[in-house]
Amino acid sequence: CGIVAYIGGKDAAPILLEGLARLEYRGYDSAGVAVTGKTGGLKLVKKKGRVADLASAVPARFKGSVGIGHTRWATHGEPSDANSHPHLDGAERFAVVHNGIIENAEELRAKLENEGVVFASETDTEVLAHLIAAQAKETDTLEDAVRAALARVVGTYGIAVLDAERPDRIVVARNGSPIVLGIGEKEMFAASDVAALVRYTRQVVHLDDGELATVRADGFSTFTEDARATAKQPSTVDWEE
Ligand code: GLU
Repeated sequence: CGIVAYIGGKDAAPILLEGLARLEYRGYDSAGVAVTGKTGGLKLVKKKGRVADLASAVPARFKGSVGIGHTRWATHGEPSDANSHPHLDGAERFAVVHNGIIENAEELRAKLENEGVVFASETDTEVLAHLIAAQAKETDTLEDAVRAALARVVGTYGIAVLDAERPDRIVVARNGSPIVLGIGEKEMFAASDVAALVRYTRQVVHLDDGELATVRADGFSTFTEDARATAKQPSTVDWEE
């Protein structure tokens, strides 16, 4: 339902929680955040219920200057803590938030389970985390792993992906579910809706369907699902608070 991502010099969690609160008007049943940073490892809190409940469950030592957040409107699997996003791979290296529906999730899940993957939720989204982890074994970059995973997926998605081993970037992708990048001063944002960003920046870039982006603290690059670079012009959001 709602996605927020941050990378920069600040603590990500408060910015993610603020962004998620701004997406509440869209409706949702659960919320979650994952952060990482130079010290490595993913930190994750996710819960059925309100963003305010999530905020009180985030521990004081939830440090990390790169992170992703989500408000979920359940389509596959009941609203529960386990089904809330972000979803992780088995090694807890990758975290994924997703808006939309993976239509071939059942088939992909069966294949992955055959290969020994153990699922922690009932969602369609979780297959993405395991597919990215599997592809990462064969590719050098997070971008290639995400592209290869998405090539196996049928359905709609706006996603943001965190890699605890590469805390210098977030990879986002769009197909049928909006993703917008927000350009800051030595910090970058991404979201499913400009409402989550306008407190921080008015300079935005809307991804097109079939487009991905690497988002770093000092900038971004966009490319297609077959790895061709695309040229994007930032636009200025007109927004009355
Ligand atoms: N299909 C996913 C789920 O049920 C994402 C739902 C959403 O867009 O919030 O978890």
